[in-house]
Amino acid sequence: MYHKISEVIPGSLYPGLSVPPRLFERQMRFIASRGFQSVRLENPTVAFHSEKPISITFDDGYQDFADAAVPILDRLRMIGTVFLVNDLIGKTNEWDTQLGDHPAVLMEDQTILDLANKGFEFGSHTRTHVHLDQSDENVQREEIVDSKKRLEETLGFPIQTFCYPYGGYNTTSVNLVKEAGYSCAVTTRKGLNTESTDRFQLNRIAIRNDTLMPIFVYKLWRAFRLGK
Ligand SMILES: [Zn+2]
Repeated sequence: MYHKISEVIPGSLYPGLSVPPRLFERQMRFIASRGFQSVRLENPTVAFHSEKPISITFDDGYQDFADAAVPILDRLRMIGTVFLVNDLIGKTNEWDTQLGDHPAVLMEDQTILDLANKGFEFGSHTRTHVHLDQSDENVQREEIVDSKKRLEETLGFPIQTFCYPYGGYNTTSVNLVKEAGYSCAVTTRKGLNTESTDRFQLNRIAIRNDTLMPIFVYKLWRAFRLGK
């Protein structure tokens, strides 16, 4: 689980969410050198049956994904899955700037379409980046069900995967994700996924600004050996 692929902007409220491009490149080279295949999440059964599957995810849809991450992934013939905040496409991360954080630009439609044509996967991260677990069912429906419809109308391809903002969700959220027709959803719960993991509550491994190479390797080892 990545967010921004960028240097930390001084004064940022969440410096941990920015992984510098050079560190990201080393992490991707490590994954590639160990024979992992980066997979799309849209069909988890297919993903699980790939050889050494790994899913590289990027929350929020920052422009730095296109600028910094894609060239590295392209060089290594890898792909990634990006979770978009529908109502803020082409704008900035208003859910953070409202709290006083620096604005970060989010990708616009055409950038997303170009990357989708190259094989990158796009999923929904709601319409406005809300705390679903603190929202009533009507709001959750707009954020989960409507975001899928709107993204599909705007982009013209199916949106199959969902990501709970802040890792916050409840039973209503999971039910709405299923009702909307998504094939899977990712959380911020730590760990490896197996075929018995609930595909609407998939685990991830958080990679942060301070996840230097020894820690990165340890995190992968821990997930594959201990399952968490
Ligand atoms: Zn997010």
